[in-house]
Amino acid sequence: MLGLRACVLVLCTIVVTNAKFVDYSGHKVLSVTPKTEADLEFLHKLRDDYSVDLWNEPKYSGVPVMTHLRPELIDAVEDALTDNKIEFDVAYHDLQTVIDSERVMNAPSSQAPVFNFGIYNEYNTLVNLIENLAKNYSNVAKLETAGKSYENRPIYALKISSGDGSKKPAIMMECGIHAREWTSVAVGAYLVNKLITQYGKDDQVTRLVDKYEFNIIVESNPDGYVYTWTTDRLWRKTRSRSSIDWLGVCRGTDANRNFDIEHCGVGTSRKPCDEIYCGDRPFSENESRAIRDMLIALGSRLKAYFSIHAFSQLWMTPFGTTKKLPNNYNELTRIGNAGVAALAKRYGTQYKLGSIANIIYEAAGSSVDYAYVKHNISIAYALELRDTGRRGFFLNPKDILPTCEETFDGLMASVEAL
Ligand SMILES: [Zn+2]
Repeated sequence: MLGLRACVLVLCTIVVTNAKFVDYSGHKVLSVTPKTEADLEFLHKLRDDYSVDLWNEPKYSGVPVMTHLRPELIDAVEDALTDNKIEFDVAYHDLQTVIDSERVMNAPSSQAPVFNFGIYNEYNTLVNLIENLAKNYSNVAKLETAGKSYENRPIYALKISSGDGSKKPAIMMECGIHAREWTSVAVGAYLVNKLITQYGKDDQVTRLVDKYEFNIIVESNPDGYVYTWTTDRLWRKTRSRSSIDWLGVCRGTDANRNFDIEHCGVGTSRKPCDEIYCGDRPFSENESRAIRDMLIALGSRLKAYFSIHAFSQLWMTPFGTTKKLPNNYNELTRIGNAGVAALAKRYGTQYKLGSIANIIYEAAGSSVDYAYVKHNISIAYALELRDTGRRGFFLNPKDILPTCEETFDGLMASVEAL
């Protein structure tokens, strides 16, 4: 169909130049807009047969799919798209140029970096923010270590509540489980900062921090996050070495396919080199275990769970494992719609609401399904933040803060609607 049979699939054509950064020079990212079932099928085929990295799921007619092409595939794929009359634009002519300019834009401006909500921040700056919030606002914030990553970094959770939070209904939010989704981490940092520093100043924040205990993990996959800054901007998984490590070249597990809910079922892979590798057993990863342990510790106090991802502008309910809708889907829709409406109010950003399997793809082993099914957390969502497939993981810095603000509005509105 593509005339690409001649292209031998090389498992890894990415070149490591200075033995440090993975070099994406010559890689191109197309924004492909499918219009028909056949167009969608074409994109699926690119992924399945040629290991093309699609940054978002080909699912809807008219919604662009960011299609990351290795240099040797570019000509053949562009020709095939043209032949098949499938509309596409070039999102990034040279991916490495984008990564380089992002690095410059996000570079800390001084020796002692201060967290800047208008850019993406590196790991140490993020940790400073979290630790300082807990230290400087001990009246509303308590720092807990939910677990340790594979490389022994703390997986911090901020517990945010006025007075004794341990008796209150709890809300849990988890960000950054997929390393390259930096926008999720930016939103997590904004959330904790606003809930903590605006207590007693902002009416809504004060009301909600009085009523609930928020439990927020800003960075659920610190090893992966560090690796995206030091080595490979597009890394998604954890950095663990599994017991069935394939020739020792593929590391990491998709922590959000590693929860004990139909483990290694639909929408996952048993191949350690794949982006959606589910791990050799449920909870093989320290990172998913940290989240599990927090769910266990919160027990029946936990009233709502949110897993924050990027990108596609979706507000998703369980299930990922089946297209069947949950029993309380009406209630999930009501509360989710309150969030979607409040989110749109600030900058007009439109989200689609629906169940994971229906709105994006079937995916087993996710934190949201696990929380909903195994811990009976009846209000559980996964969010996919901005955008819908124009810049993808590389949001324009001018859009980072607005994304944080609108997401905060949406999340708080849905908590208010509980
Ligand atoms: Zn994700």
